[in-house]
Amino acid sequence: MNGSTKETDSIEYLRQRVFEMENLLNANQMLCNILDPVELYSTIGNLVKEQLKVSTIGIFIYQHDFENFELVFSHGLNELAFRFDENKGPLWQKILQKEPFPIKDASGNPMFKEFSENDNLKKMNSEWWFPFIMKQEVIGLLTIGEKSNGQPIDEVEYDYIKHIANQASYCLNACNLYIKRQNERQELDKILKNLSLLYNIGRAMTYISDLKNLLKYILEKAIGITKAEKGSIMLYDPDTNQLSVSIIEGLEDHDYQEKINNKQVECKKFKPGEGVAGQAFQEGKPVILNNTKGEEEFIEADSSFVRSIACIPMLVYNEAIGVINVTNKRDNTHFTEVDIEMLKAVTDQAAVAINKAQLQEVAITDFLTGLYIRRYFMSRLQDELIRSERYDKTFSIAMVDIDKFKNVNDTYGHSAGDQALKETGKFFQKNLRQTDVIARYGGEEFVIFFPETNKEVAYILAERLRRKYSQIKLDNLPGLTISLGISSYPEDGKDMETLIKNADTAMYAAKQNGRNKVVKFSQGNLESI
Ligand code: GH3
Ligand code: MG
Ligand code: MG
Repeated sequence: MNGSTKETDSIEYLRQRVFEMENLLNANQMLCNILDPVELYSTIGNLVKEQLKVSTIGIFIYQHDFENFELVFSHGLNELAFRFDENKGPLWQKILQKEPFPIKDASGNPMFKEFSENDNLKKMNSEWWFPFIMKQEVIGLLTIGEKSNGQPIDEVEYDYIKHIANQASYCLNACNLYIKRQNERQELDKILKNLSLLYNIGRAMTYISDLKNLLKYILEKAIGITKAEKGSIMLYDPDTNQLSVSIIEGLEDHDYQEKINNKQVECKKFKPGEGVAGQAFQEGKPVILNNTKGEEEFIEADSSFVRSIACIPMLVYNEAIGVINVTNKRDNTHFTEVDIEMLKAVTDQAAVAINKAQLQEVAITDFLTGLYIRRYFMSRLQDELIRSERYDKTFSIAMVDIDKFKNVNDTYGHSAGDQALKETGKFFQKNLRQTDVIARYGGEEFVIFFPETNKEVAYILAERLRRKYSQIKLDNLPGLTISLGISSYPEDGKDMETLIKNADTAMYAAKQNGRNKVVKFSQGNLESI
């Protein structure tokens, strides 16, 4: 009888052990798969809660930066949020021994009485503390209160929690390593992304040769990489010793922005050293100004609201040729060193490309009128011809000649004539479409390319130009007029020479018809108004 009871007992005991082992294995597996610390804390807490049915549970994690333990999980503690510093007398000594310990001594007297009262720790109702140890260091603590049946924890329960605390240490360490790796990876990803962005920007710059599009492209990228609201590029003019806005982007008032970019409105100009942009230019170093309110150096160029600004000088052979400005981070934060590093990398490439485009611009611009020179026009026209042929598109050209211009020179002198030509150049720039191309063909003759424009539309545009020109008043000169002749591709010619010759013939017909006229070329029959 006795023997069989013993046998049953030992089978029961074995069953119990197998059950406990299974429990532990399950717990292990569960904890090992967690990579998020917060999830790990609550899983540890819930495992202990289910296994022991204790009234309170607290998990503390050691914070290296603050040298304290912070409560990261609690059960039955009414949102008790607190932390305690290390070096707290006898409690700390006990923790440092790295073994679980009860909060009361054998006789039932609470240990660390003074500490728990001072630090509100009494509310934890702690019965036991279990340290989490990793590489000989205490990295956290688990504290449990009374069991709901009032019994002290038994040996099996003690082993279970101790095991969980050990496992928790490994898993916490794994979690932290995982997060660290992930952060490192994100950092590397970001660097890689930035590098490829810079590479692409650099490559694109070499393809854009006209200054206006280049500036637009660079500014868009500068605003994009710094996540700024708006920005501008200022170029330095050695003749006036001033920096002036060449392009601006991101203004809420689009019409105003367009006017600035088309030079219809002038922004404030800066002398080297004046304002933040002037300072960046003069010193050849980036200047960041966050919270510009009240800052003396800050002078607004476009009269729009600025919270923060970063100005990066564009240097070519150590000489500044202008400044890139970005204004207001979209998320309201400040410009950082990383922003500046990225901007500097873009700016270094931009400076060379802009300088090249500027030199090119000078080479293809007529000094007096500011329009393109004839040679450039002809090469553009050749390109456009090929394009129009390939895509089966039409375009028109207009030859323009100022009427009786010789009289201006004869009556008012050559320099008055020069001034009239200069103002005529400005008139054309202001009154043609963005996509139209105009050049000074020679003397007081001009040639206009109207892309993707048929003869009828070109005629309307030319007619509008003629009328407007006859209405403008040049300084100290009588009113001038122009005569225009139009030819269109492909109907009036399939090569440059024919198209220009026919437009010229039409223009000559306009002169014959009394000047201040537009004539469309047509074989054998020249139409005019
Ligand atoms: P129309 O074309 O109506 O027949 O008469 P026009 O007087 O304009 O004709 P013409 O081609 O004979 O004269 C053009 C004049 O333009 C001659 C030249 O003195 C003047 N001209 C050409 N280039 C310049 C320049 O760069 N500066 C000045 N001041 N005059 C120029
Ligand atoms: Mg003339
Ligand atoms: Mg002429």
